[in-house]
Amino acid sequence: MSVAHQLDGRARDAFRNSFGYLPRAVAVAPGRMNIIGEHTDYNLGFVLPAAIDRHVGVALSLRKDPGVRIRSDRYPMPVDFDTLPDRRQGNWTDYVLGVACQVRGVAEAAAGFEAAIVSEVPVGSGLSSSGALEVAVAVALLRAQDLQLPPLEIARLCQRAENSFVGARTGVMDQFTALLARAGNATLLDCRSMHHEPVPLPGPAFSWLLADTRVRHELAASAYNDRRAECEAAARELGVASLRDAGPDDLERITDPTQRRRARHVVSENARVLQAAAMLQRRSPRALGGILYASHASLRDDFAVSCRELDLLVELAAQGPTVVGARMMGGGFGGCVLILLETPGLDGLEQYLAEGYARVFHRTPEFHRVRSVDGVMPGAAS
Ligand code: ADP
Ligand code: MG
Repeated sequence: MSVAHQLDGRARDAFRNSFGYLPRAVAVAPGRMNIIGEHTDYNLGFVLPAAIDRHVGVALSLRKDPGVRIRSDRYPMPVDFDTLPDRRQGNWTDYVLGVACQVRGVAEAAAGFEAAIVSEVPVGSGLSSSGALEVAVAVALLRAQDLQLPPLEIARLCQRAENSFVGARTGVMDQFTALLARAGNATLLDCRSMHHEPVPLPGPAFSWLLADTRVRHELAASAYNDRRAECEAAARELGVASLRDAGPDDLERITDPTQRRRARHVVSENARVLQAAAMLQRRSPRALGGILYASHASLRDDFAVSCRELDLLVELAAQGPTVVGARMMGGGFGGCVLILLETPGLDGLEQYLAEGYARVFHRTPEFHRVRSVDGVMPGAAS
């Protein structure tokens, strides 16, 4: 049985245990890794994500009255509302409520609903537990009403929920991947045109290892919004709609040195994404190594979103004889490092990283050996 199907059954069970009857609809959506392309999505550039075999499942039924009842295996407190709130609550339910408000906006949704959430995606580690949750809620709500929307519209709807209801100004990559990813492939996504194409990932001789620092520095959310503002300011000075339209020759026209470095990351990272996709298309996974390390250096030095824990894991990984390349993944200031390595080296590398990391930080990283999987609607026309 596939991983997604196991979670389907768990979601049904959780629903029945909570509400005493069987759910009308279930949706299971994957988290994601991002091979390369960090902080490029909101600059309308390129990203190269793949869905991973860690999922969020949502079982759901509509109610006849306007009440909303939500349960999650991650949060013990049941949450009930008399009616769907149209304002943020400041907690995890916002991801569910935000999506429900958006679905109501486009689909004349019925009154209330009850939902049970089960999850294997670590929360806040940069594997997009939030995107998987939003997509699973949206798809379950639509299925419960026998409604269909094009996947891209669902992705946008979930992004709007995260932007305007939750209040996190994130791009559309996570939701897009949870919906449209294809097993065995990453997706080269142009975040401006939304043009996307599958890019074959290396075969079983190579593996992806995510090493979670298990730290999340306070700075993360505010720095994310600061970086967005810095990128927007740099684009304004250049007179372009977004940094996607800037090239290396434009950088010297940016007067503020900090903004110039931020822009240099975005411009160089976009080039690296295209290079990495070309190497994968050519089935030359080893050529990814230098590109991954360069991405990390750029995020650390130009974009200033790394931290000592991420840097140490990348430095340790680089010493591993079977490692092809590594870089920090996600928004930064904690979360995971992505490592591409030869599969037989997995056990040895985990041990080496655990020991080296514990020597400095007195804790061990959490490891996730991940495989690429299908999204909810793999390869659907969008
Ligand atoms: P990431 O998406 O990298 O995991 P985010 O900070 O974007 O990190 O999203 C994490 C948030 O999403 C959590 O703090 C919680 O509010 C919500 N969330 C994720 N998974 C679940 C879950 N299984 N149940 C309830 N809420 C969840
Ligand atoms: Mg998220």
